[in-house]
Amino acid sequence: MLNLVLFGPPGAGKGTQSENLINKYGLVHLSTGDIFRANIKGETELGKLAKSFIDKGDLVPDEVTIKMLESEVNKHEDPKGFIFDGFPRTSAQAKALDAFLTSKNTQVNLMLALEVEDEELKKRLLERGKVSGRSDDQDETIIENRIKEYNAKTAPLKEFYTAQNKFVSVNGIGSIEEIAGRLYAAVDAEQ
Ligand code: ADP
Repeated sequence: MLNLVLFGPPGAGKGTQSENLINKYGLVHLSTGDIFRANIKGETELGKLAKSFIDKGDLVPDEVTIKMLESEVNKHEDPKGFIFDGFPRTSAQAKALDAFLTSKNTQVNLMLALEVEDEELKKRLLERGKVSGRSDDQDETIIENRIKEYNAKTAPLKEFYTAQNKFVSVNGIGSIEEIAGRLYAAVDAEQ
């Protein structure tokens, strides 16, 4: 199996590049943000809970997020691999993912980190907010809180995957095709 963690701050282009990676490598795309939004739309219990955090730009609690992710992985029989987009976002999530994949005799192969500076992120998110309808993309305070959450809780995961020799930094500035090319080169070097 090929399991990739796509990593980067809000607005780094994880969703866009996931599309390219699933097409090229035939992987299953699991975006925790998309799954939460589908639950909010469907007005499920999970959606109601997630909404109260997402609306403030806070992370959803680990326990709920991990349980949801594991049940999504279990829905797929004999997959070629997964792209984890927006997960793990805390060290508890990263440790849980390692343990869970080990129990399935597999592992994370690479963590691909899209690097984009904060000012560019804010600009991209506000632009996306104009078309996506995502309320968390339309308010500068919420955007700033998401970037803050990322820097405090998620950025430290670089060290976690570096220690496992799985961390690859990818420049997230350029055209969609250029960035996709950089990601393919990183994945192909690993295989
Ligand atoms: P972005 O990367 O642009 O912030 P996402 O769609 O990945 O967008 O996530 C939107 C929101 O969903 C996050 O701000 C957070 O509240 C919640 N969320 C997504 N993934 C996780 C996760 N792994 N752990 C906790 N909260 C999450």
